[in-house]
Amino acid sequence: MASNGYRNGTGTNKGAIKPPASSNIRSSSFKSRLPPSSNHSPGSALRRTSSASFTTAAGGDGVPGRVRVAVRLRPRNAEESTADADFADCVELQPELKRLKLRKNNWESETYEFDEVLTEFASQKRVYEVVAKPVVESVLDGYNGTVMAYGQTGTGKTFTLGRLGEEDTSARGIMVRSMEEILVNVSRETDSISVSYLQLYMETIQDLLDPANDNISIVEDPRTGDVSLPGATHVEIKDEQSFLELLRLGEAHRIAANTKLNTESSRSHAILMVHVKRSVLGEEVAIPTESDKSSHFVKPPKPLVRKSKLVLVDLAGSERVQKSGSEGHMLEEAKSINLSLSALGKCINALAENSAHVPIRDSKLTRLLRDSFGGTARTSLIVTIGPSPRHRGETASTILFGQRAMKVENMLRIKEEFDYKSLARRLEIQLDKLIAENERQQKAFDDEVERINLEAQNRVSEVERNFTDGLEKERLKCQMEYMESVKKLEEKMIENQQKHQHDGFMKDKCNGEGPGFCEDIAVIKKLLEKETHMRKEAEKEVNKLKSQLGQHMDAGAGGDAEILKLQIALEDEVHQKKKLEEEIIILRSQMLQLTFEADQMRRCLARGGSGNAYPGLDSPMSQVRDSLSGHKTPVSALFDQVGVEKILDLLESEDANVRIHAVKVVANLAAEEANQERIVEAGGLTSLLMLLRSYEDETVRRVAAGAIANLAMNEANQELIMVQGGISLLSTTASDAEDPQTLRMVAGAIANLCGNDKLQATLRSEGGIKALLGMVRCRHPDVLSQVARGIANFAKCESRASTNGIRSGRSLLIDEGALPWIVQSANNDAAPIRRHIELALCHLAQHEANAKDMINGGALWELVRITRDCSREDIRSLARRTLNSSLLFRSEMRRLRIEL
Ligand code: ADP
Ligand code: MG
Repeated sequence: MASNGYRNGTGTNKGAIKPPASSNIRSSSFKSRLPPSSNHSPGSALRRTSSASFTTAAGGDGVPGRVRVAVRLRPRNAEESTADADFADCVELQPELKRLKLRKNNWESETYEFDEVLTEFASQKRVYEVVAKPVVESVLDGYNGTVMAYGQTGTGKTFTLGRLGEEDTSARGIMVRSMEEILVNVSRETDSISVSYLQLYMETIQDLLDPANDNISIVEDPRTGDVSLPGATHVEIKDEQSFLELLRLGEAHRIAANTKLNTESSRSHAILMVHVKRSVLGEEVAIPTESDKSSHFVKPPKPLVRKSKLVLVDLAGSERVQKSGSEGHMLEEAKSINLSLSALGKCINALAENSAHVPIRDSKLTRLLRDSFGGTARTSLIVTIGPSPRHRGETASTILFGQRAMKVENMLRIKEEFDYKSLARRLEIQLDKLIAENERQQKAFDDEVERINLEAQNRVSEVERNFTDGLEKERLKCQMEYMESVKKLEEKMIENQQKHQHDGFMKDKCNGEGPGFCEDIAVIKKLLEKETHMRKEAEKEVNKLKSQLGQHMDAGAGGDAEILKLQIALEDEVHQKKKLEEEIIILRSQMLQLTFEADQMRRCLARGGSGNAYPGLDSPMSQVRDSLSGHKTPVSALFDQVGVEKILDLLESEDANVRIHAVKVVANLAAEEANQERIVEAGGLTSLLMLLRSYEDETVRRVAAGAIANLAMNEANQELIMVQGGISLLSTTASDAEDPQTLRMVAGAIANLCGNDKLQATLRSEGGIKALLGMVRCRHPDVLSQVARGIANFAKCESRASTNGIRSGRSLLIDEGALPWIVQSANNDAAPIRRHIELALCHLAQHEANAKDMINGGALWELVRITRDCSREDIRSLARRTLNSSLLFRSEMRRLRIEL
């Protein structure tokens, strides 16, 4: 055995330390951390031959990590202090040299070297830091880890591992400290920790968290070689307190038989398994799809889950059977304990010597610990020894066990799985966002097209009108001027003729040509010239007009150019839309591909029989309705550009189509809270109410009512609506409209008003409640749901006012005769209607003034039903509380022998 140990030569060779007998042992510190997993260079990883490995399926890349061994000496106890008073301790520690001397007799001793030598004065904190902390840190990084205590009964294994340290925090053992460290380092949102606590006793595995579960079998994954215990209880750990309670519970169940050596000693192996599951984001990976050329496409980083396991083992006492003084059944028991322990020893020997066969299957303990020795886990062993020279033999064998374990080399490896579930979830959200954005853009696009068409039509007709008017005016002017000129000319001619006749007569009389005739001719000539000049002027005027006409025509052509520009913009929009649709198709195909891959993976795992199959993709679709925050919707952007006044002006347009479009746009804008104030300020509410009054078209009325319902969500608007006589208009519409969608909008608007504490009395006196109830004649579920919401709102406000002492007496709803419908609808098939009515009943029942009517109207039965059948726990308990706090209901229930 000497060749296996780090000890000096016995006897004469005192003081000289032999060099390590095996190259497996390195000088690296006990605390050395692993390199970060992302930097692993696959080529640098050492590989163990499978024959020398505890784990048969441990192939692949990893980092070498030798099993680290520390020795801890327990201080003398009271008995030893008396009984061994005259004797020296059987060991002498040299912690600074990491050496331990085992005395053979007064002259001779053997020296052994360990990774850590912990004296009887070593604090629990220090023991945790040198033995367990590096392992826990590895587990947090995604590696498996093992911390195991080995030693004779009574030497402090449980003290080292399992102390809870409730009275004295400095006494906390490795189990408690490890969990503290894990809890501090994991994220509550994305990571999870669960614990199983087991006992291996007489080759039977028992569940310390559920003692009835006393024969748990070990399952090995033939593909990965992973060992799991599917039958064991797993408890999720959220805080340290729950973990401590769990340890206490486990300890209470642990079989501890008395032995000669220590009354508290245990002959079972206690195994605590901490399962750590952490989410990590890998590098961004391109998901290969055919259409993956698009560079602007967002590729989500690859989500990974790291599953690691920390195994803490408090072994049974390593002493030989006869020492424990057992007999009969106890002897059988001791043999069984020895079976697991000796199998562990054999496996460690085989691994230390690189033997071809490692007898893992010989015991349950070695099967459970296959990953801890020669596997992929980071392992620390603490061997505990006592000082008494009487137990020198046991101490020596414990030391040799530790020495052999130091030669076992593990190959540490991270287990990462691709987190399909979270990737699918993220893609779904992205897809939903894109769909919503596409819908919004489509709407804005339609509105924009309508607006542009309208604008273009208006402009063309205006240009046409101006042109025709101008032309007509000019034509008339020319005609008049022309006629005037002709008239003047005719007059002149008549005058001339008369003059001529008279002059001829005079000439005949005078018998000769007088100078007067020639003068006349000159005058006529002048007149003619003047006329010619005027005609030329008129012609000029006509030409001028013609050129003006040409200019108008050009202006018309300019308008055409603008329309052309708008058309190009439109085409751009169409192009954009197409691009978005293409992106959605790409995303969908990715989703399909992923679903397919995940399915395949699941099937493959299922075939492999693994206990930890990938989680399915069956999570419900996340509903993401929010637009990208901080971005204006296209409708709002349009709103900014066009201006609210212009849009409202269109509500009064002569063209019915324009009015319909305009009211739709206003309704859309009113749906966004940010626009409501501007709409109301610009008189939009008044315009919409006017539209309701001057009803001419069902669409206009429906859309106007919808817009009013949207504005009525805001408290300030609710008061304005009342002041402007909105409730009587809504009531009139409620009574004469037939269209269910119009009624739904009106009911929605009134339901919003019902939720305003200040308006209760006015609503009732102006007929609002009657109007609301009147609409149930239309049996459409959408309308009924709004009516139910209005009633629930009203009842809530009343209940609040009663509680605050502002009102008293019976509910106005009961006064208005709403109770029969409420009772009748309490069990409606449609969930939204039922839910509102259930709440309304609970609010009404909170006030004793309503109780009598409610009992007479059958509402008590419905409330009792709600306490039993309602699917929502909060409403069930609200109904129960309400019923229990009413004297009248309680006595009626007693009378009817109803028990909640
Ligand atoms: P084991 O689990 O190995 O049988 P225990 O942990 O039950 O041993 O320890 C036996 C006794 O010795 C207990 O009373 C324990 O409190 C005490 N003991 C063990 N180790 C130490 C130590 N390092 N310092 C003080 N007391 C110790
Ligand atoms: Mg113990």
